[in-house]
Amino acid sequence: MNVGIVGGGQLARMLALAGYPLNLHFQILDPAADACAGQVAGLVQGDYDDEARLNQLADWADVVTFDFENVPAAAARLLEQRVTVYPPARALAVAQDRLFEKTLFWELGIPTPTFATVDSLEELQGAVLRVELPAVLKTRRLGYDGKGQRVLRVPEDVEPAWRELGGAPLLLEGFVPFEREVSVLAARGRDGETVFYPLVENHHRDGILRLSRAPCLKPGLEQEGWDYARRLLERLNYVGLLAIEFFVHEDRLIANEMAPRVHNSGHWTIEGAETSQFENHLRAILGLPLGPTAAVGQSVMLNCIGAMPEPAAVLAVAGAHYHAYGKAPRPGRKVGHLTLRAAASDALRTGLERLLPLIGFQPGEFGPIG
Ligand code: AMP
Repeated sequence: MNVGIVGGGQLARMLALAGYPLNLHFQILDPAADACAGQVAGLVQGDYDDEARLNQLADWADVVTFDFENVPAAAARLLEQRVTVYPPARALAVAQDRLFEKTLFWELGIPTPTFATVDSLEELQGAVLRVELPAVLKTRRLGYDGKGQRVLRVPEDVEPAWRELGGAPLLLEGFVPFEREVSVLAARGRDGETVFYPLVENHHRDGILRLSRAPCLKPGLEQEGWDYARRLLERLNYVGLLAIEFFVHEDRLIANEMAPRVHNSGHWTIEGAETSQFENHLRAILGLPLGPTAAVGQSVMLNCIGAMPEPAAVLAVAGAHYHAYGKAPRPGRKVGHLTLRAAASDALRTGLERLLPLIGFQPGEFGPIG
């Protein structure tokens, strides 16, 4: 079977690596000649709105999927007319716009921060009165890794934030003084079969995910998250892997955003779950039975930002796994990740203390893990 992927970054690369044992073949569409998935899959080089290239991918593929959600709506529609495409274009459209996303959460009874749309300075001033400070001003579209957002703490922050972000439609959200951040990963097959991964705890720095830990043993929260995920999967008639990021505040989940694709907070599943998120995404979109999602031991995933550490130093740590994405080093760029898997918390802590300095953190940087 041939799988086409729109976008050729590390997610496409890890999908291809998971798919070869299933006898799948891959082509990616990406504007960049050096897209890192192109090292392990065929590359169709072209812009995401290049009709000839989209048609080429559609003609070759049995099914097309995505490695990012900001695929132009017209491209997703064009593909859907010619080939089976999962997840559905509607899920992409919802995830592309924070207003659509939060409105859908609200319709499904999934709690969100208070929010208001903002299209002018006057609207922002009105929204600040309703939402109250502190609040976060975000672009509705094309925000990721904390880009396109400003925290407003005092009234004097309002005008500078408007000057910086005001060129685009915005959303103002209440700032959630969360105790932790978690994510839920779930996969739904073509026949509606649905599986859920153990709850993941996430730690960010400067808006970028740096560490994920699973399983995060909070049974009540996990059930709540699975229930919300099920509502979204069913409403969207979703096929594939879906990730939802939540804040935990006063022991309840508050939804931040969803990603209609495999997700950075699920990379630990390659070694840490019975079936990885990448394999289950492929199984789902191909109509194959889904695999079990139970955790195998305990895992911590660390993102490598800017540059990779020396492999020998990482691999000297028992239970550590090294994933380089084949990308050139560059400040701020996700170039790989490390996963540490251990049978018990003690071994996890000891290994983590050795790995953290290799990626520029102090031991203990993320507090007691658990
Ligand atoms: P986002 O791009 O929406 O995922 O935001 C990136 C990170 O900024 C989140 O993971 C949080 O750490 C922080 N953040 C975003 N929105 C809020 C909010 N409403 N309240 C508190 N922190 C937030």
